[in-house]
Parts: sequence; structure tokens; C-alpha cells
Amino acid sequence: MNQDVLRKLGEILDKDQLMTEEPMQKHTTFRVGGNADIFVIPKASEIADVIKVCKRFGEQVTIVGNGSNLLVGDKGIRGVVVNVGKNMRNVEIEGDTLKIEAGTTLAAAAMVAAKAGLSGMEFASGIPGTFGGAVVMNAGAYGGEIKDILVSVNVLDKEGQVRQLSAQELELSYRHSNILEQKYLVLSGVLQLNKKEPDTILAYMEELRAKRLEKQPLEYPSAGSTFKRPKGYFAGKLIMDAGLRGFSVGDAAVSAKHCGFVINKGNATATDICELIDKIIQIVQEKYQVTLEPEVKKVGEF
Ligand SMILES: Cc1cc2nc3c(=O)[nH]c(=O)nc-3n(C[C@H](O)[C@H](O)[C@H](O)COP(=O)(O)OP(=O)(O)OC[C@H]3O[C@@H](n4cnc5c(N)ncnc54)[C@H](O)[C@@H]3O)c2cc1C
Repeated sequence: MNQDVLRKLGEILDKDQLMTEEPMQKHTTFRVGGNADIFVIPKASEIADVIKVCKRFGEQVTIVGNGSNLLVGDKGIRGVVVNVGKNMRNVEIEGDTLKIEAGTTLAAAAMVAAKAGLSGMEFASGIPGTFGGAVVMNAGAYGGEIKDILVSVNVLDKEGQVRQLSAQELELSYRHSNILEQKYLVLSGVLQLNKKEPDTILAYMEELRAKRLEKQPLEYPSAGSTFKRPKGYFAGKLIMDAGLRGFSVGDAAVSAKHCGFVINKGNATATDICELIDKIIQIVQEKYQVTLEPEVKKVGEF
């Protein structure tokens, strides 16, 4: 661990915003992953300086939102993990738009919008990620995706400059944006919503919540759908038809409730999950000549 980086970060951040040897299993919905050398939770006013320090010392930076689409390796993450999370959660309503900081959870933003009589975020209300992570992934569900409502974002680019980009500039497509390729850090964004009765919005959110509870294995740690939807197929159905319901490696298993989810039954390691994912890909390929592509992002050392 680089003590100079630690000392410099300590000049920017309070003690409770700066951790060392932080277990990443505390910060991922899969509940797996080794330690991050350094883990920071900056405020919007501090994040550019944090990145500047890391850059100056050549320290590797990993951005993490709510960790709901991440598989962190058992050997952890070297360098600095920057959590765009609980210290960047400001939301403001301006007319029919929502101005939202990247660490805001989609659930919280959807609730603010609903209570203000603004519709458009209902689809996202049950996705357990932050706004930043949702833009990166162009998260979507029940016929909606971030692309439909995003106007613009403010990002920190790889030179450390704040830039405003339109949604079009992010090349959003199915579970993809160019943010990771461009090494942008999402700071905030603007969503275009439309007026509707709060009760109607809340009722639809409740309907979607009930659907998730019924269909998804929310009682187990997971990262949601493990694979992207292959063109013309459903990953879960292919996995089920291949006879892999309940198939497991250690405590990593294909959910019996929804075969598209790999779940952690208790003490799974990242290595177990990787091995299971590889076996699923191999078996589905052999049986159906369809190549499954993981939606879950691997980070750190395995
Ligand atoms: C039970 C469950 C259900 C789910 N259902 C859905 C669903 O219906 N639809 C769907 O699309 N997804 C779903 N997901 C997956 C996940 O919630 C989404 O992909 C979500 O958008 C990820 O957000 P996050 O904040 O957790 O991002 P993380 O998992 O922390 O990060 C995801 C990626 O984004 C990067 N990143 C995060 N924040 C930033 C930032 N501010 N700037 C730059 N890069 C950043 C990370 O480096 C990483 O590459 C589900 C997950 C679970 C566990």
C-alpha cells in the first residue's frame, strides 16, 4: 500500500471516508471479494482532488457504486477504490427534470420522482444500483432503460476535467455505454420525466416490486442477471433447458427460482462463481451453439 497516497488522501478526506484493507464483500451484493488496499467515500466537492492524488502517484483507481453488478476477485483490489455512493446523493427537481448525483440509489430517486408526480423512473425503482452505475450499464427492466430518460451527465474525464456530455455522446445500447472505455467517472446527470398522478406512479412501482419478488431469488446474494440476453434467446431459459437448474460449484449455484441468476448460497468465493459461470457458458455453447456473455463485471485479482 502506498503510504504517500494514503497520507495525501488523509488531507482531503475525514477518517470515516478513508479505509484501508476494506473487505469488498461488504460492498458487493454478491457478498464476495477480498480486500481493497484503500477504500474512499468522497463527497462531490472532494472527488476531483482524490482522483488527482491517485493520478499524481500513478495509483490504480477502481470506481464502485453499489456493487450490484460486480464480481470482485478473492485477492481483492490493489490501489484505491473510489465509492461513488452515500456521500454523493443529492437530488433536485427542476420542472419535469430530476438533477441527480451519481451515488443516489435508483430506488431513492424513483421515490422522489413519484412523490413529486414525475413518471419515467418506475422501471428502475427495483434495480439495486446507483445512478452512476445505471448509466454505465444503461440499466433497464420491464421495457424501460436509462437511455429513454437520460438528457445529460457531468463526468470527470481521464485528464481530471469536468465535462458535460449529452446522452447521445455516451453511445448507450443494451447494457452498454462508452463510459468504461473512455475512463469517465460519472458525477451527476439530468433525467427528463413527465407529469402523472403520484398514486398512479406508486401503484405501478408496487406492481413491479411484486413481480420481482415473485420471479427473482432476492433472498440470496447475487448480482442480478448474470448474463446478457443473447439475440433471439433468454439466458435463463437456455440455462434451464440445458438442465442446469440448481447446478453448483461450492456455494455458487444457478438459482432454482430463476436460472438467469447465479446466487451465493452462503460461503461462495469469487473463484467458485467464476468457475460456475465458465461451466454454464461451456455447456450452453455445446448444447445450443449460443455464446452467453456475462453482464456482471469482474474487477480486482482472482
Ligand atoms: C437483485 C438484483 C437485480 C437486478 N436487476 C437488474 C435489472 O432489472 N436491470 C439491470 O439493468 N440491472 C439489474 N441488476 C444489476 C445492477 O443493479 C445494475 O447493473 C446497476 O445499474 C449497477 O449499479 P451499481 O451502482 O451497483 O454499479 P456497480 O456494480 O458498483 O458498478 C458497475 C460498473 O459501473 C462502474 N461505475 C459505477 N459507478 C460509476 C460512476 N459513478 N462512474 C463511472 N463508473 C461507475 C463500475 O466501475 C462498474 O464497471 C440487478 C442486480 C441485482 C443484485
